[in-house]
Amino acid sequence: MTYYGPSWDQLAAQDPEVAEALTSELTRQRTHLQLIASENLTSPAVLAAQGSVLTNKYAEGYPGRRYYGGCEFVDVTETLAIERAKQLFGADHANVQPHSGASANMAAMFALGVEHGDTVLAMSLPHGGHLTHGSKVNFSGKWFDIAAYGVREDTELIDLDEVRSLALEQRPKLIIAGATAYPRDWDFEGFRAIADEVGAKLMVDAAHFIGLVAGGAHRSPIPFADATTFTTHKTLRGPRGGTILSTEEHAKAIDKAVFPMMQGGPLEHVVAGKAVAFKEAMAPTFADYAASVVANARALAEGLSQQGVRIVSGGTDIHYLLADLQSLDITGTEAEERCDAAGITLNKNAIPYDPRPPMVASGIRVGTAAATTVGMGTEEMAQIASLIVRVLRDASEVDTVKKEVAELSAAFPAYPDPTT
Ligand SMILES: *Cc1c(COP(=O)(O)O)cnc(C)c1O
Repeated sequence: MTYYGPSWDQLAAQDPEVAEALTSELTRQRTHLQLIASENLTSPAVLAAQGSVLTNKYAEGYPGRRYYGGCEFVDVTETLAIERAKQLFGADHANVQPHSGASANMAAMFALGVEHGDTVLAMSLPHGGHLTHGSKVNFSGKWFDIAAYGVREDTELIDLDEVRSLALEQRPKLIIAGATAYPRDWDFEGFRAIADEVGAKLMVDAAHFIGLVAGGAHRSPIPFADATTFTTHKTLRGPRGGTILSTEEHAKAIDKAVFPMMQGGPLEHVVAGKAVAFKEAMAPTFADYAASVVANARALAEGLSQQGVRIVSGGTDIHYLLADLQSLDITGTEAEERCDAAGITLNKNAIPYDPRPPMVASGIRVGTAAATTVGMGTEEMAQIASLIVRVLRDASEVDTVKKEVAELSAAFPAYPDPTT
């Protein structure tokens, strides 16, 4: 049986164009090295829940309080998702309806009382912050007055003294801790103390590392944050979507901000997939997974560094590293393209104080969440580091590296081969 299940044959017969693109994508996921830090490979169980009849159901409202009839079974799956999220993270309240990490952030910001023109203190985008933390082209930058903290030039680490003086000077209504490209640990307790000192709320955007928190490989922000937002599809390995956890104090405001303020009908098929993913994350094997993800990221950083690639901040505490490619004389864009040609999928990334514009960038971000899912360990990471460096140093290596990548991927298949 292929992971698509019986409905697959029907799709293939009825719409060969879509079926072909899906097959090609499955083949790509099976044959390329998947090193994008924000991606992972969900289980067949999550895929089954997501590709289910729950997509047919309107369920505006919350379990037991819906605006439509016939919600008794989506009430079951959504309640499971909520209760499991609360248990997994030890949170008072969970809202599992946000369609994405970005919508979770938007809803949480409104729920925490930030209004048009208010000041928000968040991580600077060029230093690793997310679009929703104040980019000019995003709602956050358009509606809020953004003050940004960054990393120190010498250590490439966040300096809490800088965060504190900015907070004292700018008096933000909200402080956001969390990033999309900061490979180190966060001092949530320190952020909480600063928020309390200036009377701000604290939101932790745990989109990237939440799976590590679930598996006990990263400290938990839940005891310190007013609200914690996250995506369910990165290290947590669930369906594409968002979730908000909060203290009891903000529970009602969070629910109202998600629906009816921002969203209409929830994606109940995705919510069911979230319930499945939360259960998977509670299993003891997930703790092993989370520990391996971090060990693999450290091994990959070590391997790259031994071959002369500078690792931003000197290492990693999470599931990805940032590599500074300036010593190899190749830009981030060129590196991304060349790795892609060799079957290695990763992304260019600006490094702190990057001399190049963000679309070119001087670095790459390399993540281990998906590679660890297929069972790779520290030995494979050492091999991958060599493959990456070979191809970055010498474009003529692309073809031979591509063959080695194919062999490595074949030894660790992401999903069963659909053609057998
Ligand atoms: C990925 C990410 C998000 C956004 O998630 P989407 O589901 O793509 O909207 C938000 N914040 C951070 C820090 C992220 O890394």
